[in-house]
Amino acid sequence: MKVIYLGNPILRKKAKEIEKYDEKLKKFAEEMAKVMYRDDGVGLAAPQVSESVRMFVFDAGEGLNTVINPEILKRNEKKVKMEEGCLSIPGIYADVFRPEEVEVKYFDVAGKECHKVLTGYAARVFQHEFDHLEGILFIDYLSTAKKAVLRSKLNKIKKGEVL
Ligand code: ZN
Repeated sequence: MKVIYLGNPILRKKAKEIEKYDEKLKKFAEEMAKVMYRDDGVGLAAPQVSESVRMFVFDAGEGLNTVINPEILKRNEKKVKMEEGCLSIPGIYADVFRPEEVEVKYFDVAGKECHKVLTGYAARVFQHEFDHLEGILFIDYLSTAKKAVLRSKLNKIKKGEVL
């Protein structure tokens, strides 16, 4: 299982709903968690490993969560700034404004429905990973000026000139 980088069209696709909660899905979730921890990530979405399905794993410091077919039911109006990075955009970090709190619904790997209100770092990671399922990347939120500063680095990643 390999993480793909900015420039790969899979990262820009809207991912498909997961329909079957089976052994294969469980195995896939375990593999994703392994890759996330190995690469020192706090989250990893399925499209980042070339599977365009609505699922991600994250660990915001409180243990591993496997999130399937998530929905963001409510976004708090208060937005806060936090620095983000992404395993698919190596070496790039930037401040992004997002709602401080979100109310979410998703299914775990066994198909059990979960309903949570997330704040702080967990809310941040959840929103970043959720965006991956919509084909959105954190750099999309940056100002034109900030993007201009990062342009040559981003182009290098797109051309595969990383690591
Ligand atoms: Zn990411």
